[in-house]
This record gives sequence, structure tokens and C-alpha cells, in this order.
Amino acid sequence: MIGEKINRFGEEIKHRLVTDRHRQQQILLYFCAMQILDGKVVSKTVKDNIKERMLFVEEQGRKIPHLAAILIGTNGASETYVASKVKNCAEVGFKSTLIRFDDDVAENILLEAIENLNRDEDVDGILIQLPLPAQINEEKVISSINPDKDVDGFHPFNTGKMVQGLPTFIPATPNGILMMLEHYKIETSGKHAVVIGRSNIVGRPISILLGSNTYPGNCTVTVCHSRTKNLKDICLQADIIVAALGIPGFLKADMVKEGAVVIDVGITRVADAEKKSGFVLKGDVDFENVAPRCSYITPVPGGVGLMTIAALLMNTFTASLKK
Ligand code: NAD
Repeated sequence: MIGEKINRFGEEIKHRLVTDRHRQQQILLYFCAMQILDGKVVSKTVKDNIKERMLFVEEQGRKIPHLAAILIGTNGASETYVASKVKNCAEVGFKSTLIRFDDDVAENILLEAIENLNRDEDVDGILIQLPLPAQINEEKVISSINPDKDVDGFHPFNTGKMVQGLPTFIPATPNGILMMLEHYKIETSGKHAVVIGRSNIVGRPISILLGSNTYPGNCTVTVCHSRTKNLKDICLQADIIVAALGIPGFLKADMVKEGAVVIDVGITRVADAEKKSGFVLKGDVDFENVAPRCSYITPVPGGVGLMTIAALLMNTFTASLKK
């Protein structure tokens, strides 16, 4: 009896402590100067801008932008991303075509489909949803896309132009991050930016862009990766941190300088039996504990992911104007 009472009392205290800690964090978030970089708000601004320009396109009887997406297999996350891209095309008045292949598609079949899209005068932008199955050579596939239709900006020709600061298609996720920094007028010149991750689609391009002689840019950039030593010490020197490594909750509060800007690119599906979908989306940042230390931070979901789609739409619109 007494043991049971003590246990119940212990549970009650534990519950109160957890609730109090949560409440304290909420209060701290409310009073500190931290601002959320809201992907919903910024992506809506970008999409509204496209919709306005589409009115002009229709008025002038000009060509409607057309995005063709290739999806291979039935990976849940890829399905969701492609469905969202197609839906967003419709929302801003673009045409879209979705071409699907089974997981075991042969490389030559895929290359043939890309060649058809390259030749199709009506198609302005081509995107191949990554990752690709093991039998497909990613480099070969990306290089087979006509650079003028490479709205993902992954073709080596466009990457080279980006590195040289020439006008080109900038990969959607890094471009979305720049749009966000610009929207919130975040000062970047002379700041120390630390990018965690060096992939061709996020880490490498954003590190080049943040170091470019433009706004947003002019940062001093440090690129960290899986072999980096003293990552915590490097992060503590950062005015801006871009976390793009794909490890949920990796960036902890004790790795972040007071007042830093934190951009969370990570999106990982973490199992959660309480959710209908069976998972929740987690970023690379331990948001609850990092947020109170930041001047600005992106949430997951509702941050960079939405900007990626907005930037892709903008690239597709630009591609259609070249016609
Ligand atoms: P990737 O797997 O290609 O690259 C991961 C990078 O992280 C590598 O360069 C690796 O060196 C580095 N890394 C791994 N472990 C590390 C560690 N312990 N310390 C430091 N660096 C480490 O990943 P990616 O394609 O760049 O994607 C990264 C994350 O961003 C994923 O969660 C992905 O889902 C997400 N993502 C989101 C968007 C979006 O629109 N928000 C777009 C693309 C990717």
C-alpha cells in the first residue's frame, strides 16, 4: 500500500517536473528574441509571386511552364516529395507530367525516357527524384539531362556555372535557404557559416553560395562532414549553422553559440506508433533545446522543405521563359 503510494507520488513529481521544464522552455522561447524562419510564409510569398507572373503569361498567350518528374520505385518519402511537387505545380498554374518506373528499371530505359523529355519542346524542366536504385548510375543519369531543363541544378555544367557565380539553375534546397535568409533580411556578410554535410545536393552547393561575393553570401565558410574532428568547437564559432547530415537531433544546444542563426535541412522519418502515418518528421537539430539560444531558426516540418519546392517552381518558371 505504502509502496504504491510512494510510487504514485514519484510519478506525479516526475510528470510535474517534465511539464514545468516544457513550460519554462515555452516561456523562454516567448521572451527571447528568437524568431522562427517560417517556410510556410516565405514559400507562399514566392508562390504568390509566380502566380502573379502567370497571370501575365496567360494574358500574353505565352507558354505554360511544364515540369516533368521521373519517379522510380515506391519509396514512401520519394512518393510524398514527388506528389507534393506535382500538387504545387497545379497550385501555381504549371503543367506537370509524372513518369513512373519500377525499382528494377534498366538504366538504358531510364536514359531513353530522359532523352524523350529532352527532345519534347513542351517540357521546360526535368527532375529525377533521388535516390536512384543501385543498378542505375546517378552521375550518368544526371548528366543526360539537357542542362537547359535541369531545374534541380544538379548537372555538372550548371554546378560549374554556380561555382563561378554565373547565372544558372541553383539547386532547389540551397536556393530555398538563400530565399529565406533574404526574406528575413538576415545579415550574412563577414559572418562565419558552418555547414554540416557535403552532399552535392545540399552541403556543397550551400557552402559555395554562402561564400559567394553576393547577398546572401560573403560568409567565411567552414564545411564539416563525417570525418571532421572537433565538430562541437567549430560549431560554437558559427554565426550561421546549416545542418544537412540526416541524423535526427544531431545539433545540440551545447554546440550552438548564443544568437546564432540555425538552418535545419534534415528530414528523417522517425517511427512513432501514436501517429496514424506511423512516423514523425525530425530535423537534424534538437529544436526544443537549441531554439532558445538562437536569433533565428527553421522548424521541421515547415521550414526548408517547403522552400525547396518553392525554389524548384521558380527554376521551372525561369526555364520556361528561355523558350
Ligand atoms: P547525404 O547522406 O548525401 O550527406 C550527408 C552528409 O552528412 C555527408 O556529407 C556526410 O559526410 C555528413 N555527415 C554524416 N554523418 C556526419 C557526422 N556524424 N558529422 C558530420 N557530418 C556528417 O545527405 P543529403 O542528401 O545532403 O541530405 C541530408 C539531410 O537533408 C537528409 O535528412 C535529407 O533527407 C535532408 N534533405 C532535405 C531537403 C529539404 O528539402 N529539406 C532536401 C534534401 C535533403
